[in-house]
Amino acid sequence: MAISIDQERLFSRQLLLTEMDDAAQARIRAARVLVIGAGGLGCPATLFLASAGVGHIRWVDADRVELSNLPRQILYGPADVGRLKVEAGADRLRALSPLCEITTEAVHANARNLPGWIASADLVLDCTDRFETRQTINRLCVAARKPLVIASVIQWSGQLLVVDPEWPEAGCYACLFSPETQGADAACGAFGVFSSAAGLMGTMQAHEALKRLAGIQKSAPQLHLFDAKGLQLQSIGLTRSASCPVCGS
Ligand SMILES: [Zn+2]
Repeated sequence: MAISIDQERLFSRQLLLTEMDDAAQARIRAARVLVIGAGGLGCPATLFLASAGVGHIRWVDADRVELSNLPRQILYGPADVGRLKVEAGADRLRALSPLCEITTEAVHANARNLPGWIASADLVLDCTDRFETRQTINRLCVAARKPLVIASVIQWSGQLLVVDPEWPEAGCYACLFSPETQGADAACGAFGVFSSAAGLMGTMQAHEALKRLAGIQKSAPQLHLFDAKGLQLQSIGLTRSASCPVCGS
């Protein structure tokens, strides 16, 4: 049976904040977010984006659920093993947050399919774990002037970086890590990852995205380095590199 959802009541605790109002909630509701990756970052990130009121998520991932994914990829259960991640995840999100419209793309993100999806998005989340894909996403988002929230996690260490066209002097992912360097891929299959560390980073990614969509975040983005074992967050100001092949002069 369909249940009508009173949105004022649904989001009432968020709306109590002085930084929030109906217009900010409406901006979140109107937002179209592209999420690339449906693993340990993409699951908690989409869970919070959808539950906090984002109106549309396009979710890209070609992988299928494996048993070893379940401790981090909290939208899936044992019955989902073998299913496409985006399909199993979208079913779960639709049940939890029926106001959120979800479009699934069960393919690998690449330089051919991403430009159209980025063009129609208000904000992009990079939840992948591939260096080359991350560089492609960064380059295309900078070119399209779309805000990009990047996260990564390995073992106990997480990184979070926002690339925001409103703050071009803060630089981009390629200012930090040159696309010329050979893949710094650190897949958790090889090095391990603590389950909740991935959850924290994916949640932080959604958190930064939601603040920007609501129009709350008005400061220059920084690189955040998170030590999940000692629970320490280090934030470093970024400056655009003049020699950056993506955003440099
Ligand atoms: Zn750059």
